[in-house]
Amino acid sequence: MMTLSFLFKIYFFLFGAAVGSFLNVCIHRLPRALSLVRPRSMCPGCGSLIAFYDNIPILSYLFLLGKCRHCKTRISFRYPLVEGATGLFAVAIFTQYGISGEGLLLFAFVSALVVVTFIDLDHRIIPNIITFPGIAIGFGASFVIHTITYKDSLLGLVLGGGVLFLIASGYYLLTKKEGMGGGDIKLLAMIGAFLGWKGAVFTIFVGSALGTVIGIGVALRTREGRKAAVPFGPFLSMGALLYLFYGPQLIQWYFRFLGY
Ligand SMILES: [Zn+2]
Repeated sequence: MMTLSFLFKIYFFLFGAAVGSFLNVCIHRLPRALSLVRPRSMCPGCGSLIAFYDNIPILSYLFLLGKCRHCKTRISFRYPLVEGATGLFAVAIFTQYGISGEGLLLFAFVSALVVVTFIDLDHRIIPNIITFPGIAIGFGASFVIHTITYKDSLLGLVLGGGVLFLIASGYYLLTKKEGMGGGDIKLLAMIGAFLGWKGAVFTIFVGSALGTVIGIGVALRTREGRKAAVPFGPFLSMGALLYLFYGPQLIQWYFRFLGY
């Protein structure tokens, strides 16, 4: 028999996948300064409007075997990937926090990270239209929700933005090259505003470690420099997600590993 909690998980997943479908639109249109509501989605291959029954998260991609119904242009696997991932994030967050202010806020935060990740991968930019409101909402919400105090949020915001700003300035002074964009700095300020100072520190360390390991791998394969090959936003986002879902366990494991 299906338990009630399992049924709720299915609802959460469907809700998340539907939001993920909208995030795909944001990823495509925000950096091009296009409207998020109009025109309706169309096939980039033949320009035909996508019918509602061909726009169902994940399922339509499977039914159409990843191709446009009319012209058979391949549809990027990223669309169902973003929908599925957002669905799983919704399950994880709402199972833990319920359909509460905290839950909705953290889900909005995670959705912003998903959008930032793919826009940064595509265009090497992190739009201010996401990070500025994100910083304000994260800090503002800390006055009403119970998962973080406003002091912790402010400290995270200042520490997150400040540390990266110092690193970026130092790198610039030493090399006269811009290593890290202002977008990364604002992104980490946003992450700090939502997750507090521990989250900001965790994200810097884990994001840098992931970025270095994967950056070396990419640099070896492409023979391009790390800077040219790898944007930083996706790794900061990954660090923030790891902290959100596994932070306490990972920190505990790390200190036990060091022998404390
Ligand atoms: Zn088509």
